[in-house]
Amino acid sequence: MSEKAEKLTMEKLVSLCQRRGFIFPSSDIYGGLSGCWDYGPVGIELKRNVKEAWWRSIVQGRDDMVGLDTSILMNPRVWEASGHVASFSDPLVECKNCHLRWKADDLKENKCPSCGGELTEERMFNTMFKTFVGPVEDDTAVVYLRPETAQGMFVNFQNAVSTGRKRLPFGIAQQGKAFRNEITTSNFIFRSREFEIMEFEYFVKPGTQDEWFEYWINERLAWYQKLGIDKDHLQLHRKKKEDLAHYAIAGADIEYNFPWGWGELEGIANRTDYDLKQHANASGKSMEYYDDETKEHYVPYVVEPSVGADRAILAFMCDAYDEETVKDELRVVFHFHPDLAPVKVAVLPLSRKENLATLAKDVYGALRLCFSTQYDDTQAIGRRYRRQDELGTPYCVTIDFASLEDNMATIRERDSMNQIRVPIPALKDTLLAKLAGEDLFVLPEGGKIWKQE
Ligand code: ATP
Repeated sequence: MSEKAEKLTMEKLVSLCQRRGFIFPSSDIYGGLSGCWDYGPVGIELKRNVKEAWWRSIVQGRDDMVGLDTSILMNPRVWEASGHVASFSDPLVECKNCHLRWKADDLKENKCPSCGGELTEERMFNTMFKTFVGPVEDDTAVVYLRPETAQGMFVNFQNAVSTGRKRLPFGIAQQGKAFRNEITTSNFIFRSREFEIMEFEYFVKPGTQDEWFEYWINERLAWYQKLGIDKDHLQLHRKKKEDLAHYAIAGADIEYNFPWGWGELEGIANRTDYDLKQHANASGKSMEYYDDETKEHYVPYVVEPSVGADRAILAFMCDAYDEETVKDELRVVFHFHPDLAPVKVAVLPLSRKENLATLAKDVYGALRLCFSTQYDDTQAIGRRYRRQDELGTPYCVTIDFASLEDNMATIRERDSMNQIRVPIPALKDTLLAKLAGEDLFVLPEGGKIWKQE
């Protein structure tokens, strides 16, 4: 594990997330609800940015992908056809002594991890949540909260083909809530009962699935690295035949080195034509695709990369976290990639004096139209920098008394803590360029280097 990751414990992360408004336990004032979390004012910005970055890379940035947003509740026949009613289950064991329940797969020994008691035989526990549609709570009204978003895309395959105007190979992508009644939840937002999933089904001509499987493994690994995750903190785990889901011919997990060790971040499955064929058989509707190049009809094969947005957020937070000593004081900082940083710019007037505040508020008013921007005029400037470091804000703009004379402001960079001074009218374009990756010391006209650490 890297020196940086060694500094991070889950306790520290959970506490920082709560203190700075990233993530809170759900229904906290009532003692919470296990496996459910609320995103705070800063966390929601981070989550939106992660989802946006994924959507831009998978849907908007490509020619061969369409998006969908399908309903959470679906006709229960969907889950019968897909195999979820019969087999979306985990092996459950119960302690005969303290009655705590455990997922058998997670246990290293055949005894209760809490009290050491004897365990019952395994039984399969279906992890789909059930509810009822309409006012009568009987078996005919049962529906499920979706445990994944994939099925909404499979049942819309023909809608996407006819309205998306795409030829094979092409994909359908979706982001949305998923629910799993996990036997145990753990590690903060890593395994929760309500979470958000980002996944796509990439439909290909049968026979070409293996190359597309490899293609998507590489694309997805590259995505995490492009957004700042150290490549040494990622590894690919190819699944053995016996560990594959019943519908898959190959599967690989992208794993991340979390503070407690390697864990699945994203699953990539080579899913064959299983789902489309199951839905064709159960619904009586064709799921065939007409290939007008080869004049053939066939059911496409599918490659599916699937990641929990919350798990991705946890990995991005763990990787961006750092602690360093600056002038004998501890600096905690999130080195988020600028695209992910929840706050891009903070405007900090050196004093609350009226003329300074007026200028600072004008600057803030102009910048907030372009970036997620905070205004902070409390406490000493050093403290405000530290607060922004803990949010991962890439740039702070300081307005001081000289600004009233020369109409210039200071930009302070989070990572290097270097500062430049630029004319206020050039602030917006300068920040845009820096957020897009330009070096801090490339100066606009009239700008100068102010302070170099
Ligand atoms: P695990 O083995 O961790 O239970 P899985 O193999 O069941 O996961 P998939 O069904 O492949 O997971 O789900 C795809 C992705 O959804 C996972 O890689 C993970 O990022 C995310 N995910 C799955 N279950 C949860 C959960 N309970 N909480 C948060 N994210 C989850």
